[in-house]
Amino acid sequence: MEQVLTLVCKLQPTSSQAEKLEVVLHAFAAACNYANEVVKPQITSKTTIQNIVYEDLRAKFGLAANLAVRACARVGANRLAAKKKDKPVKAFKPTSADYDARIFSFREKDWSISLTTLDGREHIKIDAGNYQRGKLKGRKPTSAQLCKHRDGLYYIHIQLKDEVPDPQPAKKVIGVDFGRRDIAVTSNGDLWSGEKLTKTRDRYSFVRASLQKKASTRTRSSRRRCRQVLVRLSGRERRFQAWVNHNISKTIIQQAKSTQAFVAIEDLTGIRERTNQQPRSKTERRRSNSWAFYQLRVFLEYKGIRDGVEVVAVPSAYTSQTCHCCLHIGLRSEKKFKCSNCNWSGDADLNGAKMIAALGLSVSQPGGSNGLCCSLSTDFSGLLQSPALKGWGSLTHIKFETYGYKLVTATKSGYECGKN
Ligand SMILES: [Zn+2]
Repeated sequence: MEQVLTLVCKLQPTSSQAEKLEVVLHAFAAACNYANEVVKPQITSKTTIQNIVYEDLRAKFGLAANLAVRACARVGANRLAAKKKDKPVKAFKPTSADYDARIFSFREKDWSISLTTLDGREHIKIDAGNYQRGKLKGRKPTSAQLCKHRDGLYYIHIQLKDEVPDPQPAKKVIGVDFGRRDIAVTSNGDLWSGEKLTKTRDRYSFVRASLQKKASTRTRSSRRRCRQVLVRLSGRERRFQAWVNHNISKTIIQQAKSTQAFVAIEDLTGIRERTNQQPRSKTERRRSNSWAFYQLRVFLEYKGIRDGVEVVAVPSAYTSQTCHCCLHIGLRSEKKFKCSNCNWSGDADLNGAKMIAALGLSVSQPGGSNGLCCSLSTDFSGLLQSPALKGWGSLTHIKFETYGYKLVTATKSGYECGKN
């Protein structure tokens, strides 16, 4: 299997090089917009787009052959993505351009890259830290993206392709519950406290509030200073969060690898779309809308692929209310969970993580998609149960006390709910 890692490096162009880069970005975006206008909207094949507008792109926008080819490919890819989301293609902005092996190369001897511009080839130094140097050493990357970030500086996003091991066979599972009270809790009982993060966040938001006030009331020059500090702080907060997420995901994946387990996480994507069907708590809304949790998931997934650890997403509905021992809906207060059916009680997040682990097992094992659905029977307590969760415990049916009884099947894509 192959995995692509994108490495972001700041460029150090001379002022004349910066001008040339700017020209490339504008020409590339203009070419994309032109192709998007001229070619019939239903066409998404890059070859077809190329057949129609290639000559135009070269003549009208002065693009080198392969830049024109990349522009056609970009339009095709964006159209496909937009079609999937059922949205129109957004206008192309002059903030990025794609490069392939013919127009981009990396030179280790002086840590520079060379890019084809509209006015010949340019060798540009990159600002490579230890991390970037380690990754780039001895490599010959064949594709990259030239980008202008919001800070107004130019960056190169270099794609590095790596062979990765096939996922290891795993019978055990580590369930990970994201950030109700803590950032993450695993079914093994590992916990990353959110306390420090919350404190840091609060401190930033305090400073931000005071700066924002100053930025709107003080003198012109001090307003500008405040805005600059705000930009710097937002970067610092983001990097701190990313650092935390890297640490958590690294530890979990290493643990899974050494114990030959796979990792089960909650599928928080698409929750926003489902809101109307299922009521959610305020915390759940925050979690599903937060980029930080999305980033943690992305980190887990890519590190998992890299290290041969499978990462499975399970439907997230009700994991926090369901008892992992008997699958009945239990009582949950802030931190505590108590099951009125089997009397298990303990940490609510740990229960959530164990529940996710159980769901992970049921969806990843052969025939497991039926794991959580079978004939209904009523147990002594009057709650609905089913005796056939394969390979794990004995129960399956979940009583939704508020919404009546539901037939529930867990599949890789989500719960399938029957009638009430
Ligand atoms: Zn129970």
